[in-house]
Amino acid sequence: MLVLTNGTLIDGTGKEPIEKAVVVIEANTIKSVGPEIAYPEGSPVIDLGGRVIMPGLIDCHLHLGGFVIDDPNWQFSSRSFMPWFSSFLWDYLRHFAKRRRLAIENGVTTIRSAGDNYPDITKLRDRIELGKLTGPRIFAPGPIFTAPGGHPAGTIYRRNRYIVEHATRQVDDAEVAREEVRKLAEGGVDCIKAVYSRINLMDLAHDVPQLDLRVLEATVDEAHRHNLRTMVHAGSPEETRNAVTVGADSIEHGIGPDGDPIEFTDTLIAMMVDKGTYYVPTVAVSWALKNTYPGFLAKVKATVKKLHDSSVKIATGTDSGMPGVVIGKSIHIEMDLLVEAGLSPMEAIVTATRNAAGNLGQEHHLGTIEEGKLADIIVVSGNPLEQASKTGEIEMVIKNGEVSINRLRKGRFPQA
Ligand SMILES: [Zn+2]
Repeated sequence: MLVLTNGTLIDGTGKEPIEKAVVVIEANTIKSVGPEIAYPEGSPVIDLGGRVIMPGLIDCHLHLGGFVIDDPNWQFSSRSFMPWFSSFLWDYLRHFAKRRRLAIENGVTTIRSAGDNYPDITKLRDRIELGKLTGPRIFAPGPIFTAPGGHPAGTIYRRNRYIVEHATRQVDDAEVAREEVRKLAEGGVDCIKAVYSRINLMDLAHDVPQLDLRVLEATVDEAHRHNLRTMVHAGSPEETRNAVTVGADSIEHGIGPDGDPIEFTDTLIAMMVDKGTYYVPTVAVSWALKNTYPGFLAKVKATVKKLHDSSVKIATGTDSGMPGVVIGKSIHIEMDLLVEAGLSPMEAIVTATRNAAGNLGQEHHLGTIEEGKLADIIVVSGNPLEQASKTGEIEMVIKNGEVSINRLRKGRFPQA
């Protein structure tokens, strides 16, 4: 048992903060929470000295095996390859220790990695789940469904046969797609991802094969039969409309890299609200690309604002793994960008907590500090209601009831 007292509770539901809150954690679960909570005498107590206590953050779209490079202009070259490759290999051999640490250090206790080598990714997830490795909870689709030669199989992965084989499923037949989904469901993936887009992210031309709409429909339908949620990468208004129509649970990015804003018509928005489709705008990666594609970021923000005002549920995703967006750190940037787009800081917090959990189908377990939820909790020194990215001023991280980081005990801050 662990008792946290004297916290300013932002519980992730969007409700007003509660001062002098007490949170009682028993094993991996939040046992009780509120302003005046009794707890057994002699329990270990940590006085938070009025600091903000909130749910662990959730990043619904990143690439765990991607780059950990701050510079958005970084490019492959004969000079950059070896330093990148050796640091990647070193981390890969340590089961992505650096990436796991960056997530936890930044209070990101849950991630959805949007397409990885399978079954490596589910094995890593299980090792973390069993407590053999520290790291965020991983939700993973494993391989990405795409057309033969489609993105990313025929684009960024095309020179690496191993990755194409393990991280993609190139399908052009609805029955084959169903069969592949069934196999992955049995193998234990958490969701299914499909790329339904003609955009070649290598040179941004609209020239790669696109998943057949009937194949996408079969993929989504079969996933739902196995209780797996679906994330769809769409890049044009028409693609987005089609993806929502066939039942995609979340639309990722939702804007073409050439800056074409997706026209979310009133009909499409009404459909998304009606079906509960989430929008994961990955604003952080647009921010990283702001000099390469002038005007792009403003369009993404306008889209976020329009959908949010129309009650479409927004969930945080950063697309970390792209140069310029680093796992963990980028979620705080995403929070500020959502506020710049027009959300209140509290609403931005909800997108990274309750909404993100809902997007993963985990609203009963994660995303809020409420009785019965899993104890994924962070304590921050600043006030994220003044500036959302203060979520990055981490003092304490608790995941699954276990304290991963505790700077309050080091004596840097006097106990209240
Ligand atoms: Zn991505």
